[in-house]
Amino acid sequence: MAIVFFGLSVLIVLGLVAGVFFLNKYKHPVRRSLQYLFVTAFITILFNALAVIMPDVRMATLFHGLYFAATDWLVIMLLNYTRDYTESKDGGLPAKILIFAGAVADTCSMVVNTFTHHVFVSVAETLSDGEVIYAVNSDVNSNVPVYGLHLVYVYILVILVMVTLWLKIARTVRLYRRKYEALVWSFVLILSANIGYRFVDYPIDISPLLYSVMALSCAYFALFYVPKSIVVKLLSLSVEDMENGILCFDREGKCVYANEVSKKLFNVDSSLAPLEEYFARWRSERGEELKEEAWKEEHEIDGETHYFESHFRFLLDDKGHYVGSFFSIADRTEDYRALEMERYSATHDYLTDIYNRERFFECVEEMIRRDPDVKRVMVCIDVKDFKTVNDLFGEETGNRILKRIAGLMRRDASADTLYARLEADRFAMCMREDNFVEEDYTDYLEDLKKIVKSSVYRMHVHVGVYHIIDPSMSVSVMCDKAFVAIRRIKDSYQQIVSYYTENMGHSVQREKLMVGEFDRAISAGEFQMYLQPQIAVDGYHLLGAEALVRWDHPVRGMISPAEFIPVFEKSGYITRLDRYMWELACRQLRQWKEMGREELHISVNISPKDFYLLNLYDTFTSLVERYGVNPSNLKLEITETALMEELSKHMNLLAKLRDYGFQVEIDDFGSGYSSLNTLQDIEVDVLKLDMGFLRKTSHEERSRIIMNAVIDMSKNLGLTVVTEGVETVEQVHYLTEAGCDVFQGYYFDRPMPIRDFESKYFQAKQ
Ligand code: C2E
Ligand code: CA
Ligand code: CA
Repeated sequence: MAIVFFGLSVLIVLGLVAGVFFLNKYKHPVRRSLQYLFVTAFITILFNALAVIMPDVRMATLFHGLYFAATDWLVIMLLNYTRDYTESKDGGLPAKILIFAGAVADTCSMVVNTFTHHVFVSVAETLSDGEVIYAVNSDVNSNVPVYGLHLVYVYILVILVMVTLWLKIARTVRLYRRKYEALVWSFVLILSANIGYRFVDYPIDISPLLYSVMALSCAYFALFYVPKSIVVKLLSLSVEDMENGILCFDREGKCVYANEVSKKLFNVDSSLAPLEEYFARWRSERGEELKEEAWKEEHEIDGETHYFESHFRFLLDDKGHYVGSFFSIADRTEDYRALEMERYSATHDYLTDIYNRERFFECVEEMIRRDPDVKRVMVCIDVKDFKTVNDLFGEETGNRILKRIAGLMRRDASADTLYARLEADRFAMCMREDNFVEEDYTDYLEDLKKIVKSSVYRMHVHVGVYHIIDPSMSVSVMCDKAFVAIRRIKDSYQQIVSYYTENMGHSVQREKLMVGEFDRAISAGEFQMYLQPQIAVDGYHLLGAEALVRWDHPVRGMISPAEFIPVFEKSGYITRLDRYMWELACRQLRQWKEMGREELHISVNISPKDFYLLNLYDTFTSLVERYGVNPSNLKLEITETALMEELSKHMNLLAKLRDYGFQVEIDDFGSGYSSLNTLQDIEVDVLKLDMGFLRKTSHEERSRIIMNAVIDMSKNLGLTVVTEGVETVEQVHYLTEAGCDVFQGYYFDRPMPIRDFESKYFQAKQ
């Protein structure tokens, strides 16, 4: 019998040893104290088992003593574990020392007892099968005071364990009490078994085996046990807190759970009955066969449309039996709105709230595909020099103009008209041909110009119209054609609307060709400098000339600058061409200087682009230095348009150039955005009046009055007045009368090659 008990104990011990290693797997904070508990438990069990099988009384007494001592350490470890598990504070160092000293003293006392028997004696007892073992008979020992001390020590520690647990139970939230209560019950059970043994008259103490149960339950409660009620409560709390509405129905269709959100959605408070009705109705709509499904629906809540995404799902138990069902209802209104906003901003222009380019192209394509036989027009609108408008009047005014243009399109749009802002200052509209009325645009846009009130700048808004002939053409090409039509408007002040013709398309082709040929032309010297003489009014003598470029094209012959200058201005090549021309002019001046004609000047043209792309001061000063010519012989012709943008910056530049000795001329005065104010603001040396302007106007008399005034004013400001485009002797007489100093025009000479210029004028002088 004893050997059976021993064998059983060893098995349990091995199990606990394995447990110690097994616990290594867990990173739990109580792992260490659990492992100590396991170790002391198996030592205790082992000593008890060894004591039972000892054949002589001394050895039995020794192991019983060790068993009692081990019990001390086991209970200390239990206390240690309980503190860790309940996260309670320990009693501090003095308490620790006291407990520790008690255990050490008791251990020593138990070992010494082997020889002194001052604590207990082991006596031989006979088991029922006649086997004799040595046991500690409580009847014999209960009167020994030292033995009583050992028991008191152990029970005090046990009481500490229980107190620690009870305190924790008292302090913790109700939901979690379960966890600690379970442990208390398992301790009570073991303790009762232990005490109970004292009343059983059986020589083998089997109660230590229960220590293994204790150690295991400690591990179980710490590592694995989660009371069902906690799970349920936490689950329901998290469902309660979800953004989705959750409704659960049992097998009979009774609503067993509805979270706050779903109650709010269905407008119920405590009673769930309305939800059952709802479910019953919903079910009957589905017919017999109930299926899991998901759907979207809209509901009005407080006058606002809300968008819901709902799911219906079965609840099945682990064997797959139907136990109920639930609805999950998500309010997706915010997501929907965000998506709508996103969709809106992806298809609309943020400033004007009309379609953007991509959306417009898509919709026009779709519209034409649906109804390809309808005759339509593509109408594009463009603000000329919109950048200047922004610079001069501020972005806010610029935005106002853009919004007004969008307003015009909105106003004029019939049901099947599409319109959009394509980019910065460009708009497009696609409509039925018979809906397009030119006057609507001219009047409105004429009116729009009043937004910018300025005496120096007049805004131009142009409309290009393309009659869609081929419905399969890409929408962007249709728009391009309408913009080509706009480009043909050039600098006219009256024209607002321009219609695309095939010729225009060809000229676009030609422009591309010219740009492609630029590099070759400039390195092959195809650009030539022609000179047009400038004649002084007194005695008709030569003062100098304006340098005008000609393109001697190998195939097309002589091309007029009127054709290629605007093209190169657009592409930026003008800057290279101008620099080339200035260099030719300086070389010419140098030659004339060497020929003794140092008094002659050459006027060169400066394109508006040059101001941005070049450092004009460095360019001109280094040119005259390199060729050793007097800067006053190189006159710089600048148009007002070039100056308008960033006026103050350019004024500085002009001042510096004049300080250096160059003469600055305002070109084409009277033909563009000229205004008398400009004369006040801009300090220059020469004013070039354009005769062409005079010819074009219908009120010749008024124009003359103005011209007289301008000449007068210029004289008063100390400016030299040059009139160009002079074709008749009458003009010469009239202008001389009015006070003009210098003439340039066909009446005297056309622009001519240098050789012709020199042979005519230089020989005449000699
Ligand atoms: P612009 O600077 O106003 O030059 C005067 C234009 O008027 C020249 O045309 C000239 O041939 C023309 N003209 C002169 N006298 C008369 C006349 O009595 N009657 C008429 N109807 N026209 C006359 P061109 O040479 O064809 O030049 C046209 C424009 O091309 C120039 O106008 C100028 O803006 C530009 N341009 C010419 N050469 C250059 C250059 O080297 N660089 C730059 N940036 N522009 C140039
Ligand atoms: Ca000029
Ligand atoms: Ca001119």
